[in-house]
Amino acid sequence: MKTDLPSTMAAVVVHSFTDIRVEQVPLPLPGPRDILVRVAVCGVCSGDVMDWYIEAKAPLVLGHEPAGTVAAIGAEVTSFAVGDRVFMHHHAPCFVCERCRQGLYTLCPTWKRSRLDPGGMAEYVRVPEINLSDTLKLPDQVSFEDASLVEPAACAVKGMAKVGVLPGDTVLITGLGVMGMLNIQVARAFGAARIIAADRIPWRLQKALDLGADAVIDVSRQSLAEGVSRLTGGAMARRVIVGPGTTAAMADGIRACAPGGTVLFFTPTPPGILLEIEPHFLYFNEITLASSYSCGPLDTRQALDLIGRGVIAARDLVTHRFPLIEAAEAFALTARGGDSLKALVLVETS
Ligand SMILES: [Zn+2]
Ligand SMILES: [Zn+2]
Repeated sequence: MKTDLPSTMAAVVVHSFTDIRVEQVPLPLPGPRDILVRVAVCGVCSGDVMDWYIEAKAPLVLGHEPAGTVAAIGAEVTSFAVGDRVFMHHHAPCFVCERCRQGLYTLCPTWKRSRLDPGGMAEYVRVPEINLSDTLKLPDQVSFEDASLVEPAACAVKGMAKVGVLPGDTVLITGLGVMGMLNIQVARAFGAARIIAADRIPWRLQKALDLGADAVIDVSRQSLAEGVSRLTGGAMARRVIVGPGTTAAMADGIRACAPGGTVLFFTPTPPGILLEIEPHFLYFNEITLASSYSCGPLDTRQALDLIGRGVIAARDLVTHRFPLIEAAEAFALTARGGDSLKALVLVETS
């Protein structure tokens, strides 16, 4: 183990949503089969600002969209070397349990338990042995900023497979934050014939068109179902991806779905919230409801491939960059949404 590393480092510790501090914490020490990564960049995820989700776990070091350079490796590590540029996934499955054998990696108990130490928003991260199976070396043309999009892009890839987008489909994507934009780009990569995007913020609607949506609906001016009906001649959308984690958005998504289609809930509601549905409508239209939580090791590889081919790039999606010391601002901006998409925390240049 290298010894020229500091004994402490800066990390972003979330105590609550109004109390996010940059603190000095001990440098995590890699075991013989772990690696230590010097973080270059870490993205702020919309999930990082779901207060009910995060405050149950606080205090904690957030950040599951990091990329950086291997700074040290354990004595028994052979698959990585100091200096390798990597994306490291926060969670990794065991590959041997029943759920893993069914390909349900995000439902694997090991996946849920595993995590980067202490979290991506720190100067250094210990990547435990189990996480090395989803630590990916970056092709030369993939920058650290691009690589910080691997995890969110992988969530879009997994959702797209789950909703079953096939070439020729009309896909409706509601909620045009960065995940909505990624869903547009990934839907196109999956061969969607027509992509309709919906939001209520004009800037986001224009951005969606710039990034490949064929048509947009301003839901502040008309209902989603009316807009989709008008654009499709009453046929509606075969695949619907609901971005906002609200029951109103979910209900709207169901009403905009074509007979025989599938509606995907991309974001959770807080626990205990009930959604009113009309089984009669679902039944006689044979509409399938699906959900997709996070992403697994196959999705990250597919996402990195899309990024490596330039289909997904930081230049299109990153709107704000903050030094580590201003990380609290990055969270506040992400929570506000508005005219922002992805905010990055630039750790190494801080
Ligand atoms: Zn994320
Ligand atoms: Zn497993």
